[in-house]
Amino acid sequence: MKIYPKCLKGKESFVSFDGHWLPCCWLPNFGVIYEDSIFGKPEFDLSKNNIEEVVKNALFREFITILLESPENAPYACKKHCGQDSGTTSNHLHKKIRYG
Ligand code: SF4
Repeated sequence: MKIYPKCLKGKESFVSFDGHWLPCCWLPNFGVIYEDSIFGKPEFDLSKNNIEEVVKNALFREFITILLESPENAPYACKKHCGQDSGTTSNHLHKKIRYG
């Protein structure tokens, strides 16, 4: 499997109810409580960091590295929404996404 992260191709990012930045709105879904992920950490708290600091922090760099280099370790939401077994890097948002 490969992941072609839409968050690196212009998909809008997301801010949680308590002010934490996430690369997209899909991540907090699928039963994963974002507070238990890296995005619940203080490095992603927009009351403590500006957006440039957030996207440059080491945790986010590691997250991107996992998406691109070891996608088997990526969150389920990323595999589900941005994963492809093969093919192009074209945006497949137009395709119906199956849940379950
Ligand atoms: S699901 Fe994952 S890879 Fe896809 S846009 Fe969201 S954070 Fe990026």
